[in-house]
Amino acid sequence: MSVNRIIIVGGGVIGLSAAYHLTQSGVRATLLEKDAVGAGSSSRAGGIITGHLWSKTGVKARKISLRLYRELSEELEAYGYQYQAVGCLNLFSPAAWSERERLLPLYDECEAPYEIIDAAEIRQRWPLLTPQDDAIGLFDPLGGYSEPDDYVPALAQKCRDLGVDIREGVTVTGFVRQRERVTGVLVDGKLLEADRVICAAHSWTNRLLAEVGRQLPIKSFVHQRYLTMPLDRAAKLPALNANPYEAYLRPANGNRILVGGETAGRLELATPSLAFDMAELNAPSGFSDSLRDKVQPLLPALERHPFTEEQVGLISFSMDGEPVLGTVPELPGLLVGAAFHSGGFAYNPVAGKLLAELATAGETELDISAFSPARFSAAATDAYLNLRLRQQDAFLRRH
Ligand SMILES: Cc1cc2nc3c(=O)[nH]c(=O)nc-3n(C[C@H](O)[C@H](O)[C@H](O)COP(=O)(O)OP(=O)(O)OC[C@H]3O[C@@H](n4cnc5c(N)ncnc54)[C@H](O)[C@@H]3O)c2cc1C
Repeated sequence: MSVNRIIIVGGGVIGLSAAYHLTQSGVRATLLEKDAVGAGSSSRAGGIITGHLWSKTGVKARKISLRLYRELSEELEAYGYQYQAVGCLNLFSPAAWSERERLLPLYDECEAPYEIIDAAEIRQRWPLLTPQDDAIGLFDPLGGYSEPDDYVPALAQKCRDLGVDIREGVTVTGFVRQRERVTGVLVDGKLLEADRVICAAHSWTNRLLAEVGRQLPIKSFVHQRYLTMPLDRAAKLPALNANPYEAYLRPANGNRILVGGETAGRLELATPSLAFDMAELNAPSGFSDSLRDKVQPLLPALERHPFTEEQVGLISFSMDGEPVLGTVPELPGLLVGAAFHSGGFAYNPVAGKLLAELATAGETELDISAFSPARFSAAATDAYLNLRLRQQDAFLRRH
C-alpha cells in the first residue's frame, strides 16, 4: 500500500519532527495544530538534552537524537537555530550515586560517552557552581540544550519550506475508523482522509483516544521553569540536572540562566477537554522562592539575579516510565508518540524519525518494542487511569 497522505495531529516538537523526517522520505504531511505551533509544552520546555537515560532503548534512541541535533544545527542555522553543545552534567549525592553507577555498564555497551568528576573538578570547570564536597558528577560530553524559542520556529519554518502543510487553529475532534482501520480525522464534523494518522497531541492524546475506546496509561503533571534577570555576560555552565538540589538549570538566551523543578506533591492533571490551553496553568504560590532557596547553595549568582519569567506546562509519564511510540493495538493506521516524561525535547529528533519510518515503511531501524503501545493491556491501562497520582508517585526522570 502506498502511503502518500499522512496527517499529523499536534504541532509541538514531536509532530514537527515527524513532519520533517517524512519530507526526507519524500512525503509532505499535513500537520493540524489547534492553536499555534509550539503552544503546548514545547515552547515552555527547558530544552535540556542528555544521552544518559535508564533503559537500553532509551540510551540508543538518545544517541540518535544527539547525532540528529548536530545535523539539524547545520541545517537550521539559516533559520536562527543552533544546538548548544555545552555538555550535560548529572549531579548526585553519594547515596543516589550507587543507583546511577549501576547504569554505567549500559552506557559502555551502548558507547554513550561519560566522565565521572568530583566537586573540586566541577568548581574548576564551571566557577559559577559551588557543589557540596561529596557531590559526584556524571558528565555527558555530547549533551547540551536547544533553546525552544529558537528551535520551534526554525523547525516549523523549515517544514513549511520543505512543503509540509501546517494548518494552525485547526482542532481535530476525533479519529475516524472504517473497516477496523483508522482512515482519517474529524475536523469541523468533516472527514479528512489519510493513509496514516500520527497523533502527537501530548497530554491531549487520551482525550482523542477516548473517542475510539482505547486509551493509553499516561498521566500528566504540571511542571515549571524560570529565567533569571540577565547576568553581565553569558553564564559559563553546562546543562545541569542538579538532583541533590531538586532542580535543573542551564545557560539561556540573553545572558540569563534557566532553572526548573518538579512539584512533587502536586496531583496529576487530567486534560479536561480538547479546548484546554496550557496558558491556564499556574505554579503553586511561593514555589519559585523555594526553588531559588534550594538551588542558591549550588549557584550563588541567583542571589543577585532573581527570576523574572515563569513558564508552566505539562510533562507526561507512561505507567512504566518509558515513552509510548508506535501503532495502537486495535487501531491500525494510527501511530502515537507520547509520554516522553520531561525529555520530549531531547527525544524529538529521534521520535520524529521513528514515527516517519513507521508511517512509511511499517518498521524502524532501531528496535523500539520497549516503547510500543502494545505493551499495555486494556485492563492494566484502565486500572492505571483510575488511580489518582501525585508527581512523586510517578517517575522522577529529568530529561
Ligand atoms: C516547564 C517544562 C520544562 C521542560 N524541560 C524539558 C527539558 O529540559 N528537556 C526536555 O527534553 N523536555 C523538557 N520538557 C518536556 C517537553 O517540553 C515535552 O516532552 C515536549 O515538548 C513534548 O512535545 P509534544 O510535541 O509531544 O507536545 P506539545 O508541545 O504539548 O505539543 C502537542 C500539540 O498538540 C496540539 N493539540 C492537542 N490536541 C489537538 C487536537 N485535538 N487537534 C489539533 N492539535 C492538538 C497542542 O495544541 C500542542 O501544540 C519540559 C516540559 C515543561 C512543561
